[in-house]
Amino acid sequence: MKIKEIHIYQHDLPVKSGPYTMANAEVWALDTTLVRIVTDSGVTGWGETCPVGPTYAEAHAKGARAALMEMAPSMVGCEVLPLAAHRRMNSLLNGHNYAKAAVDIAVHDALGKATGLSVSDLLGGAVTDRVPSYYATGVGAPDDIAQLAADKQAEGYPRLQIKVGGRPVEIDIETIRKVWERIGGTGMRLAVDGNRGWTTRDALRVSRELPHIPFIMEQPCNTVDDLRKIRPQLHHALFMDENSVDLPTVINAVGSELVDGFGMKVTRIGGLQPMQTVRNICEARALHHTCDDSWGGDIIAAACTQMGATVQPRLLEGVWLAQPYIEGHYDAENPVQIKDGHIALPKGAGLGITPDAAQFGAPVASF
Ligand SMILES: [Mg+2]
Repeated sequence: MKIKEIHIYQHDLPVKSGPYTMANAEVWALDTTLVRIVTDSGVTGWGETCPVGPTYAEAHAKGARAALMEMAPSMVGCEVLPLAAHRRMNSLLNGHNYAKAAVDIAVHDALGKATGLSVSDLLGGAVTDRVPSYYATGVGAPDDIAQLAADKQAEGYPRLQIKVGGRPVEIDIETIRKVWERIGGTGMRLAVDGNRGWTTRDALRVSRELPHIPFIMEQPCNTVDDLRKIRPQLHHALFMDENSVDLPTVINAVGSELVDGFGMKVTRIGGLQPMQTVRNICEARALHHTCDDSWGGDIIAAACTQMGATVQPRLLEGVWLAQPYIEGHYDAENPVQIKDGHIALPKGAGLGITPDAAQFGAPVASF
């Protein structure tokens, strides 16, 4: 089975009661890119990639589409097989993993639909039909975030991630304290995500002042060198997120014992095929990781949930979805959504959803 057609779409995802605030960005609306492949046997597969604005990662929406247009003409005729697709894409364009991920997801969807297997089957097999999610707060006032933490714990979320950085570190310390006063002892786990926004001085101070609070510290500082510098002095488990841009970086971070786990994004690493390798490396070293994405609609949500369902439950930190923060669904009949802090694995072949193509309008490019 070969790729016969590739169509690229642009779609706006407004943020509910925006903006969503991180250390280095305010997000009001997302510009997402969709890929639809049609195979020579008539099967359709959907993929998606959606950078959270242009400053979160070395990725932006127009860049995704430009990279896809660079590769797409020569992807026509490629076998609908994940490894073959990656080798073809890598022969056409260096880097740009986040754009390649949209093709990777579409190939998995089409292959699943053609064979009657779910994407989680293609990825080795689901171990659950319901994966845990986690709630990510924006950067906010200590009392507001503490109240939100209590509300999300009551809703059934097993894990909370609070955003910090981009303001005096004293306020971050107060926020973490107040959150723990509300959720400590409930069983809810806590991650503190700096989104690269702390200096090494700030990160060390937070860890030194709060050694009794068992949070994991996620991507506190900007670079791998910063993480290496603070690692020996931390009282907290260290997770890498934004810096884990490709498999060599992940292999190095695991091999050098720099991290205790990853906030791992399916599109940043290049799609489900490389994410499967990350999952296997983490399982081999008993490292925890999330299985999610920066943002995006139901296609990304389905891809992350299909992958997350294959991760050993004791190592899965959760599948985060943008769904609570954005309006509407691509597939109104089978929406991928969080209920009681968990996500039901979509049923059926491929990703388990059928996007309504009408809502995306005409493709911006077709090959
Ligand atoms: Mg993160």
